[in-house]
Amino acid sequence: MKIGFVGLGIMGKPMAMNLIKAGNEVIAYDIVGGNVAEVVKNGARFVPTCKMVAEQCQVIITMLPNSPHVKTAVLGKNGLLEGTAPGTILIDMSSIAPAVSREIERECALKGVKMIDAPVSGGEPKAIDGTLSIMVGGNKDVFELVKDDILLKMGASVVYCGEIGAGNTTKLANQIVVACNIAACAEAFTLAKKAKVDPKLVFEAIRGGLAGSVVMDAKVPMMLAGTYKPGFKIDLHIKDLANALDAAHETGSPAPLTAIVMEMMQTLRADGNGQDDHSGLAKYYAKVSGTKIGD
Ligand code: NAD
Repeated sequence: MKIGFVGLGIMGKPMAMNLIKAGNEVIAYDIVGGNVAEVVKNGARFVPTCKMVAEQCQVIITMLPNSPHVKTAVLGKNGLLEGTAPGTILIDMSSIAPAVSREIERECALKGVKMIDAPVSGGEPKAIDGTLSIMVGGNKDVFELVKDDILLKMGASVVYCGEIGAGNTTKLANQIVVACNIAACAEAFTLAKKAKVDPKLVFEAIRGGLAGSVVMDAKVPMMLAGTYKPGFKIDLHIKDLANALDAAHETGSPAPLTAIVMEMMQTLRADGNGQDDHSGLAKYYAKVSGTKIGD
């Protein structure tokens, strides 16, 4: 199958590579030309605009940072909708605001383009392995059409969550749980350190019990080592929590924990730590308490 791919960054590049490995022809575009070099080396073809991607493909994937980028790529000048034929399927795999997914889908529908939102969880390692978790919103028949031959070539778990925007609402729920879980770990292990109980022993003692989690196993070792190489950057998590707070306000859903962790992340960004992994929330506690978990 010929598949258009827009956005060949940390996630998009390995996802596109997996589609190539599965035998698909990939037509690639990124606003930063150099980002497509590796997929082109592996058989993808570069075209210089989104419009040209759409002119050649009936299935197009976007993997872009946030809502404004997806709006530009789809609705902007030389954007995808200038080149699409009716019946084209657009799979937006970026993590964006659910309200913007719905807005873009309405514009797509006017041109006979079928859009679903399909954000992912799992980060670069799972994008490389093709074992992402993919959460999907939109028309169920369109979902069924792309599930096996496209989505399951990039992910190990693909779950249909409901109408358009439901994929991104699910992703926001994921990001709230991850952010609050990391903050709770940072708070708990700082307490252990202040109370003169070895945080390494605390980790060993509690990780197999109810408090244990995939987040704890992935992020506490980084806090113990005091190294915060991303992974998932604080700047990107701020973007997700901003979308989560907007969605909470729109729906009248309370989000006090999200708001507190958002302020911690904003403080870290103001201190120049926005490019750290989100486990760098531990630095917030270190600054306030004067104690590093990993000392
Ligand atoms: P990235 O910044 O590495 O890649 C985004 C790519 O989009 C870049 O190559 C950029 O040049 C390109 N781009 C930006 N605007 C464009 C436009 N108008 N037209 C064409 N290309 C454009 O980001 P990423 O880490 O790959 O993340 C992509 C999405 O996936 C984000 O929404 C992110 O929140 C989500 N996500 C990331 C991770 C992760 O661990 N990095 C994990 C899960 C989900």
